[in-house]
Amino acid sequence: MSSIGFIPGKKIGSFHPPQRILMGPGPSDVPPRVLAAMSLPTIGYLDPIFVDMMDELKQLLRYAYQTDNALTFPASGPGSVGMEMAFVNMVEPGDKVIVCRNGVFGGRMIENVQRCGGEAIVIEDTWGTPVDPNKVEDAFRQHPDAKVLAFVHAETSTGCESDVKTLCAIAKKYGALNIVDAVTSLTGVPLMVDAWGVDAIYSGSQKCLSCTPGLSPVSFSDAVVERVKNRKQKSQSWFMDLDLVLGYWGTTNRTYHHTAPINSLFALHESLLMVREEGLEESWARHRRHHEAFKSGLEAMGLEFLVKAEHRLPQLNAIKVPEGVDEAAVRRTLLQEFNLEIGAGLGPLAGKIWRFGLMGYSAKSSNVMMCLSALGSVLMDMGYPVKVGQAEAAAHQKYADLHAAEAKRRLADAA
Ligand SMILES: *Cc1c(COP(=O)(O)O)cnc(C)c1O
Repeated sequence: MSSIGFIPGKKIGSFHPPQRILMGPGPSDVPPRVLAAMSLPTIGYLDPIFVDMMDELKQLLRYAYQTDNALTFPASGPGSVGMEMAFVNMVEPGDKVIVCRNGVFGGRMIENVQRCGGEAIVIEDTWGTPVDPNKVEDAFRQHPDAKVLAFVHAETSTGCESDVKTLCAIAKKYGALNIVDAVTSLTGVPLMVDAWGVDAIYSGSQKCLSCTPGLSPVSFSDAVVERVKNRKQKSQSWFMDLDLVLGYWGTTNRTYHHTAPINSLFALHESLLMVREEGLEESWARHRRHHEAFKSGLEAMGLEFLVKAEHRLPQLNAIKVPEGVDEAAVRRTLLQEFNLEIGAGLGPLAGKIWRFGLMGYSAKSSNVMMCLSALGSVLMDMGYPVKVGQAEAAAHQKYADLHAAEAKRRLADAA
């Protein structure tokens, strides 16, 4: 009895993770302010003080998404729960859904449609290129009865951005609703839910929001609420049924649905407050600025991006592994010697790319310079022809150029 379940001779003590620098595809570095918020005393999920905080959370989220949607709240669960929440509510058995796949996450959307009993009309685009609006238009012409269009704004598996505004407009033209995956895009690149006509959108707390993992901010338009109300049969998911969740996250008569992840919500409140304090435009500009400097450094080392410049995500840099370099050994050494985590390629890109995240709190010059220095040192060690210092010099120069341009712009504005 006393030792059942334990490995003999192995003592278990408190767990102390090392201090890493997170420059992979998520999670990103969590700022001390957010970690501190998370460690505050737990209170009840219907405590009036907690309920007031929930209202603030909804306002902060509406700002981040640029929407007036009443139905905007953080779903309890990772980004995958937000994804599933959209599909299980909006897709009924037999519904046709046009799904765009240009990376890993579009593939998961197909799986969701099929598990809801829907019919997925799949549009394929090469990994590393954006969703092609012409193909979407063609699919709607062939399937004018399609009820939903689903696509990923920021494909984290490739570092490629698709055109949300154009794609949503096509869906609208054919009377379909849209589902947009904004897990990696929210606050990293411009995203305007109302102005661009987005119907259903979900994100994740651990990417550009730099909160702890496990929450999925979602927002649904009135048209989605209407569609859900008029379902012929109940959604197969009890946990994610919007009607039921609304009993807790709605505006009146809050009642128990499930126990909210109280302390995680404290953390999200703090990270969204940081977005509000910085301002969305500055958040987008900061991601762009550090990406530009990072890119200058990488290119000075002779490294190349997977995605064409005009479709690149500043927060997810997919870099081709040079010929003859052991990509896994590079990642392992960066983690062991430099406490630096970067991401590997997935699916057809496994072994072919590295993924460097510059998300949220990780998007800062100290990370950019440290990563260039560490990567340069590891590559040189492995015999790749790169001079340590070249990359840092190029990044410093880019920062200086960007600062000078900014100062000039300010002067012109003031004049
Ligand atoms: C990370 C990610 C998800 C899944 O989020 P989890 O929090 O890991 O469940 C979905 N879509 C995209 C584009 C992502 O980057």
